[in-house]
Amino acid sequence: MILKALKLTNFRNYGSLDMTWDPGINMIRGDNAQGKTNLLEAIAFLSTFSSFRKSPAAELIKKERDFFLIRSCFTGNQTEHIMNVAYSENKKYLVKLDGNTKKRIAPLIGSLNTVIFSPDDLMLMKGRPEERRRFLDAEIIQTAPESHKVFSRYNKALKQRNNLLREMREGRELSDILSAYDRQLAENGASILLRRKDLLERLQPMVRLSHRRITGGSEELMLYYAGGIEGYSEKKHSLEQWKTAYEEKLKETRSEDIRRGSTTFGPHRDDLRFFLNGDDIRRFGSQGQQRTASLALKIGELELMKGQRGEYPVLLLDDVLSELDEHRREALIEVINGKVQTFVTDTGNRQLFTRCSEYRVENGMITAIS
Ligand code: ATP
Ligand code: MG
Repeated sequence: MILKALKLTNFRNYGSLDMTWDPGINMIRGDNAQGKTNLLEAIAFLSTFSSFRKSPAAELIKKERDFFLIRSCFTGNQTEHIMNVAYSENKKYLVKLDGNTKKRIAPLIGSLNTVIFSPDDLMLMKGRPEERRRFLDAEIIQTAPESHKVFSRYNKALKQRNNLLREMREGRELSDILSAYDRQLAENGASILLRRKDLLERLQPMVRLSHRRITGGSEELMLYYAGGIEGYSEKKHSLEQWKTAYEEKLKETRSEDIRRGSTTFGPHRDDLRFFLNGDDIRRFGSQGQQRTASLALKIGELELMKGQRGEYPVLLLDDVLSELDEHRREALIEVINGKVQTFVTDTGNRQLFTRCSEYRVENGMITAIS
């Protein structure tokens, strides 16, 4: 996919921006706090309608203004699209795709595919399980936008079930309602588990391949889904079988759940683990090994999206090139060069690419460096 043009109005520190981009590499240079990450955030917003920095949309509105507007022109599968996204202070989104106003934004997630790689991703292995679950789920939603519903139904049912469990802990008899929530949770939870395991199945070979390329094959990286239902696999069991087993599991943990006032089993408790030559990278991996694994994960993500959509997503590299040593940088550049439209931010002036378009950001204004 290629982002051809981008116009920003009142987005973060951008008052008004109107740019056309290189289909190859766009190098964005600038000092700290000038708007480099803000630009990548705006591009990523077009594909997920949320901030990759987890800021609420209201924070993206330029200070003292009451709306922001992102206008874009991109190509996907040889078709050109115009997408405009506006968000105003009264919490209203307005999204137009090719001139048509869309009532719901969830189905539009992934109309433009992006992969973002930021310094936070280098910490993914060390970070909290929640971050790794978010990585998996964001990937699922971007490539299968309809799955958005499954996640929101699951989260809603989980919240309601937990509230009910707390009431039951106080002694109220509400078993029938609990069973109804169990069914909802099993229905959506089983679907999440299957989707995550299926994603991992497809992601694993890509990640391992790129890891082998970076390390020269000296170490074996394995991804492992910690959780799910013991003895159940996405290949051998149908969704119906998963749901039944899931409900069973909720019954088993019911008394413990009531005692705790929360749901102990389910995808909200699972984790994605990384093993290097059999050792858990979180506990035994050096910082360099973790960085290599993170890089392999991102390249794997890129290749997976290419496999699914038939073309590479737009790659956003925020400050990571300076964080990688030369060898790892070369490995990344080899993958993207000439194939993947990339936006790279850098505070320095190093020449990392033989061919790229360069821009300078200063206080929310971008000029091409000729
Ligand atoms: P660094 O090299 O430190 O990462 P950067 O160029 O990536 O810097 P950004 O994060 O893109 O910096 O921009 C930060 C600037 O944007 C800060 O000066 C901040 O005050 C400003 N900013 C953030 N949100 C808003 C907003 N809603 N309205 C106006 N300015 C904002
Ligand atoms: Mg930044």
